[in-house]
Parts: sequence; structure tokens; C-alpha cells
Amino acid sequence: MHEMAITQSVVDAVCEHAAGRTVHSVTVEVGMLCAVVPDAMRFCFDLAAEGTVADGARLDIVELPGSAHCRGCGADSPLTDLIVLCRHCGSADVAVVSGLDLRIRSMEVSTACAQPVDAETTPR
Ligand SMILES: [Zn+2]
Repeated sequence: MHEMAITQSVVDAVCEHAAGRTVHSVTVEVGMLCAVVPDAMRFCFDLAAEGTVADGARLDIVELPGSAHCRGCGADSPLTDLIVLCRHCGSADVAVVSGLDLRIRSMEVSTACAQPVDAETTPR
């Protein structure tokens, strides 16, 4: 299950951006070639976010299809898995253009601090 490692890095980035503010929801875009199972990712998110500013935040996952560019005929094909063949000429000589990315599209944080920031002092 590689979702845990991926989700942990998402939570890390979210907490960094939140800078102490409470996170209400996070939207991530996941390329279909990442082979991430959304339900598993939500489960991991809850675990990884426990005790952080993202604790209890909602995770929205947007799955994006990938695409490949054929070196033979120059056509682009949509990709939903890693078995890559050109839809036009059947060539396997294709380059994966997208579908392997995972990024945080947006996140919703509270503008006012619910708790004093220095209530918890974490030495860095
Ligand atoms: Zn082709």
C-alpha cells in the first residue's frame, strides 16, 4: 500500500502551508497512473493528519486521466493505466506526458486562529 507514503507527504505539505491555521478541507489532483485508491488515500489521510492542524479535514480527490504522446505518428492517446499503446497506430513507442502527478489543488483553512498559535510549542 503506497498510499500511506504519498498521503504523508500531502499532509506534510498541507501543514506547512497552513502555518498553524486549522485546515478544513484539502483537494488533491491525482493522475490515474499513480494507481492511488481514493478510499485508501482518505483512510491514510485521516491517520496521517491525526494530531496535526489537518486533523478532521475533508480530503477531496480529483482523479485525472493521463496522456501519452506517440513517437511514431505524433498522436496523443488518453491513458488510464500503465499499459501504453498508441490508440492510432498501435505503437508502444510512446512517452507518458501526464498521469503520474499528484498535487494539492486547493485547501481551505480558517482565517482566524481558533487557538493561540503558541499553545503548542514545537521546537524546530
Ligand atoms: Zn502512434
